[in-house]
Amino acid sequence: MDSEQFREAAQSAIDKVVKYYENIAEHRVVSKVEPGYLKPLLPDGPPLTGEPWAEIEKDIKDKILPGVTHWQHPNFLAFFPANSSYPGILGEIYSAAFTSANFNWLCSPAATELETIVLDWLCKLLNLPECYLSTSSTGGGGVIQGSASEAVVTVVVAARDRYLRHLTSGITDPAEKERVEDAHRSKLVALVSDQAHSCTQKGCMVAGVKYRTVKVPRHASTNTYTLTGDILRNRIEELKAEGLEPFYVTVTLGTTSLCAVDDFASIAQLRKDYPKLWIHVDAAYAGAALVCPEYQSLTPPFEHFDSFDMNMHKWLLTNFDCSCLFVKERKHLINALSLTPEYLRNSFSEKGLVTDYRDWQIPLGRRFRALKLWFVMRTFGVEGLQAHIRHTVSTGLVFSKLVQERPDRFQIFTPPAFALTVFSVNPIVPDEEGSVERRNEITKEVYEAVNADGEIFITSSIIDGNYVMRVVSGNAKIEEKHLQRAFEIILQKTEDIRAKGAH
Ligand code: PLP
Repeated sequence: MDSEQFREAAQSAIDKVVKYYENIAEHRVVSKVEPGYLKPLLPDGPPLTGEPWAEIEKDIKDKILPGVTHWQHPNFLAFFPANSSYPGILGEIYSAAFTSANFNWLCSPAATELETIVLDWLCKLLNLPECYLSTSSTGGGGVIQGSASEAVVTVVVAARDRYLRHLTSGITDPAEKERVEDAHRSKLVALVSDQAHSCTQKGCMVAGVKYRTVKVPRHASTNTYTLTGDILRNRIEELKAEGLEPFYVTVTLGTTSLCAVDDFASIAQLRKDYPKLWIHVDAAYAGAALVCPEYQSLTPPFEHFDSFDMNMHKWLLTNFDCSCLFVKERKHLINALSLTPEYLRNSFSEKGLVTDYRDWQIPLGRRFRALKLWFVMRTFGVEGLQAHIRHTVSTGLVFSKLVQERPDRFQIFTPPAFALTVFSVNPIVPDEEGSVERRNEITKEVYEAVNADGEIFITSSIIDGNYVMRVVSGNAKIEEKHLQRAFEIILQKTEDIRAKGAH
């Protein structure tokens, strides 16, 4: 493809993308294809001679689109969103054009320097404590990772390294150092609440460390599943009594099933008693809300924690992938992850003049992701980002109000939070309203009927033995009418199932 052909193809692709976005609501939100649909539609191998773009482009419509689930569709109310935006897409285009591996500053100074600058912007925008800025006295800073899961495994490795360094500080004999480290390694244990995302468990699997869950009951004052300092302390002490050494914990701002928020203030008080415990805040989805001052009272306790991560690529209009990890002391990442073979040496790095982000992450190479974050922040401005969050939250409240107005049919499970409503369906026989089994059965049946119908897409979860449906309104294109229609569909399926008298 030469420049002229590229210009023509790119213009055609952009036109089609714009048309796709403008007409997205005409698609069925979830693809209807059966597993394996694509193989019979494509040849067994690549063509021997190159094909013209027009041929390739045709297949997007005919073969790919039928198998696409439309995450930007206003009826996509499932999981958490993966917001996209035009400035985000433009960032991807420029990043692709400049394609560079960016592991060292020297690889492309703009890639590193823009990342440091925009993450400092974001740090201030989210009202994170000053210690997470690249200019902080603690030596903090932010780095873009591919996902919240990648951020977790990265900080688990840094936390382990910090813990073991504490134990061996002062030991100069390498053999003795190794012996002490080995004696402790198998006792290290990471903690995570049973409401936290599975990425901590996976991070521990990858890092090869033990993990244990902390059971979190429903909290009397928040009426949701909140990890508190006392619950965490009890579990730490239990594990210590078993001879284990807790070195890491994930706390969550916006748990996956319920968007619950852990009690950061009481957890921060543990810091003085467990100075070697690495505390990581997973704010993958709900961290986006911190752009609004009305949520920012959550952040002061983070000063006592070690790291914080949020995904711009979930709820904040930045195309996948853009997970923003902030650490209080970058030296712990660098101590754990820096290796400098001869072929990576250069005078700028040697003199300590520059940041080499390869030392803050697991892979070596990295994409120029700061561009899209920069474009999004500049195009929307602070007010535009706040307006998006507020719009999606208030639209979500329209849905939860509709649910609350039908106590004869539905029960809200935990208070609506961060554009998420979690609820269940009442059993048909009023006497059985308290029966978890009956409630679970009918909720699951309604949930399955709603998704089989396919006009909207929602997800479910099981919490503490309760089967619930989740409706998330974090989508950029969402309007009240979409949630009113979603409610109508869910109510209609509920009535259909009740009429069948299956329960
Ligand atoms: N943490 C939380 C609270 C999440 O809800 C999710 C995904 O929804 C993740 C982590 C994992 O995110 P990622 O796909 O970026 O690894």
